[in-house]
Amino acid sequence: MAHVVLSIPKKNKPPHRETWGSQGGESESQIPDASDFDPLSGPSFSRSRLLRFSGPEPDETSDFGDISDAIVGPLTNSFRQRFYSRITDAQWNDWRWQIKNAITDARALERFVRLSPAERLFFQQFVHKRPVSITPYYMSLIDGDNQTQALRRCVVPTSWESVLAPGEAVDPLGEEADMVAPGLVHRYPDRVLLLATNACSTYCRYCTRHRVLSGVHQESRYNKRNLEKALTYIRKHKAIRDVLISGGDPLLLSDERLEYIVRELRRIDHVELIRIGTKVPAVLPQRVTDDLVKMLRRYHPLFMSLHFIHPDELTPEAGQACGRLSDAGIPLGSQTVLLQGINDDAAILKSLFQGLLRFRVRPYYLYQCDPIPGSAHFRTSVSRGLDIMQGLRGHTTGYAVPTYVIDAPGGGGKIALYPESVVGRNGDDLLLRNYEGKVFAYPDRDGCLAPRLSGPVPDPGGNGRCG
Ligand code: SF4
Repeated sequence: MAHVVLSIPKKNKPPHRETWGSQGGESESQIPDASDFDPLSGPSFSRSRLLRFSGPEPDETSDFGDISDAIVGPLTNSFRQRFYSRITDAQWNDWRWQIKNAITDARALERFVRLSPAERLFFQQFVHKRPVSITPYYMSLIDGDNQTQALRRCVVPTSWESVLAPGEAVDPLGEEADMVAPGLVHRYPDRVLLLATNACSTYCRYCTRHRVLSGVHQESRYNKRNLEKALTYIRKHKAIRDVLISGGDPLLLSDERLEYIVRELRRIDHVELIRIGTKVPAVLPQRVTDDLVKMLRRYHPLFMSLHFIHPDELTPEAGQACGRLSDAGIPLGSQTVLLQGINDDAAILKSLFQGLLRFRVRPYYLYQCDPIPGSAHFRTSVSRGLDIMQGLRGHTTGYAVPTYVIDAPGGGGKIALYPESVVGRNGDDLLLRNYEGKVFAYPDRDGCLAPRLSGPVPDPGGNGRCG
């Protein structure tokens, strides 16, 4: 695919500074020295601040990291020329600029999108219920004239979000009940989930943790005092060998804040594995800077669970972000939510999963959509999901086939679902159905081989049968 590679010499790179306050009327501040760094009291990223950053095309000097080899895909490039012609390459490829200029209200959205009645109604009546944010980059992938386009449906809200269906719940996975310290969920004996922030650059309309993002469970949870409580709990509980950092999107924390968390976890002897869950490569690939991956690679073993929904997200920018993470030795898996009318089709998912493998990302889980309030329009039937799995298994590389799971409501954990492949028995044979629907027999007489393995060497002249 053709794309534009920017050619800004590295020597022209300005010193890196935090510029959170510059558009919100607050003063810029230098990143503090490591010695006096307070991980959660410096320039911060709060949802309320994010929501302020919206509106017409700004004209400001951007602060940026290393973008000397930043890629801009053809679709995004033509979008930029149309809507952001005064924005420099440096600004566009600066992840902070992307966040500051995220589209968060109807007025900003209407610059790019012809709103449908259902979309407009959300902003008229329900916008106070759930935050909206779309990075300019992700907006460049959205079809402004097609309200059914997959990526548009993922991030542009509709009044369907106000329709409650039976079984839906604010906290469908029962995470709050398993919270042992603020933001720390301990459900399984050997691993914990650390919610490090309540902010995302782009809000998915089907998000399981919408309660966190909408502030139902206190924005104030994400402060240093509470982080220290969570770390203290992990230090004390030696059975915890695996920590998943999630949120919100933890890659929205500054490098310094994220490193503080990762470094403190790495100092705990019994924490073997650190995982980070993020959608950044799909919605804000500019965030995956050289500085970020240089920092992360110091804390191996560190894995990442990425979140991709549709092949339209597999842009040159996303590929570059995944490549940088892979090159830093970070194993990448992806999680995909099965969504009605968006990706509930074997051909679409096969294209997504094969594309992810090309990005060196292993498709890991395909999730049945969790029953959060107002999500019925996103959910498929489970039988549809099983049919799709039937259409994947055997029809492509095994690595490209994730496990289809339901995260059981009420805290039951992930339960894997498989299409029926054992169809019966015929005497000593087990009858199995393959990916084409053909039935094959496998010799499966109970205990058939076990005595032979521990007994005398078999007679090669024998009939090769047991019993
Ligand atoms: S990126 Fe993740 S946490 Fe953020 S809105 Fe999407 S699904 Fe939710």
